[in-house]
Amino acid sequence: KYFNTIEDLKGKIRVYCRLRPMTPAEQRVQHSVADVVDPYTLVINTPKGPKEFHFDRVFLPEDTQETVFEDTHTLVQSAFDGYNVCICAYGQTGSGKTHTIIGDDIQPGLATRTFERIFQLTEDHQAQFDVQVSCSMLELYNDKLIDLLRLADQTEVKLEIKKDKRGIVWVQGSRISPVTDANQLSDLFYRGLHSRHTGSTRMNDRSSRSHLIVSINIECTSRLHGTVIRGKVSLLDLAGSERFAKSGSSGDQLREASSINKSLSTLGDVISALASEQPHTPYRNSKLTMLMQDSLGGNAKTLLFVTASIAAFNLDETLTSLTYASRAK
Ligand code: ADP
Ligand code: MG
Repeated sequence: KYFNTIEDLKGKIRVYCRLRPMTPAEQRVQHSVADVVDPYTLVINTPKGPKEFHFDRVFLPEDTQETVFEDTHTLVQSAFDGYNVCICAYGQTGSGKTHTIIGDDIQPGLATRTFERIFQLTEDHQAQFDVQVSCSMLELYNDKLIDLLRLADQTEVKLEIKKDKRGIVWVQGSRISPVTDANQLSDLFYRGLHSRHTGSTRMNDRSSRSHLIVSINIECTSRLHGTVIRGKVSLLDLAGSERFAKSGSSGDQLREASSINKSLSTLGDVISALASEQPHTPYRNSKLTMLMQDSLGGNAKTLLFVTASIAAFNLDETLTSLTYASRAK
């Protein structure tokens, strides 16, 4: 039950744990609470004794971005075979979600690697298929959708989540930009990220309190038969999972916190309904799960990265994140 192979993931969720290395400052004053027993088993030492967690894979603090991408790159192929692939990062702020999904110039994350892989596969398919690739990029903040590819327009377009006859979710009013190579896709992505950080009313740490949802649509039309295969790859950098609402917070802060808690807990409900094969999956309880409806369960292949700190002072949040992720099992 713990070892879904990546090829055999349809309708299922594979859960990877990635541990963030301690910073030099942390190392001076903190000890690690984590023991990785084997690639699938993580023990967290709590004051009440050890707690064991199981994953499809545990990535060590020293594991590189290349290592983390090794498995996922086969998933990108699935999008060319008509699957909706969803890769998301969940964890407390500072645990490595953005590092895993986006990374930086020196250590690019899953996004850049996925873009390159998509266009390698496009080349490989060229003889038999006409392949069209397009991208959309949304932010979900306070239960409001924002189109990151449209922000520069300065026009407010009402965004509405829709589902077509084939069960494909799309957002009416959002921009879907065609792209023809990895550099173009990458440029578009970084422009979208830039507008996420610089919008006029935005606060600096806003990105940790909103969800980022990047979808790359892949449409392959057979040159011989004209039949069309549609798939997509969605990358999610979720809002920080820690509880933001301290006692006494009110107004905007409280609304923000409760909207994050609600969307992450509804996502947890969907994941556990899928894992336990319940007849009903509660997709309709939040915008996040409605948006991801065609990319979780059914004809989708989902990879959930739970990122966690191993430093003792993060013990509570680490336990909470790992417990959340174990709902997928
Ligand atoms: P989050 O997005 O979950 O808030 P970040 O990805 O921004 O967290 O990570 C916080 C800091 O830790 C960043 O400076 C990031 O570069 C670093 N970091 C996170 N994970 C790793 C890792 N696996 N290896 C090296 N540095 C990491
Ligand atoms: Mg982040």
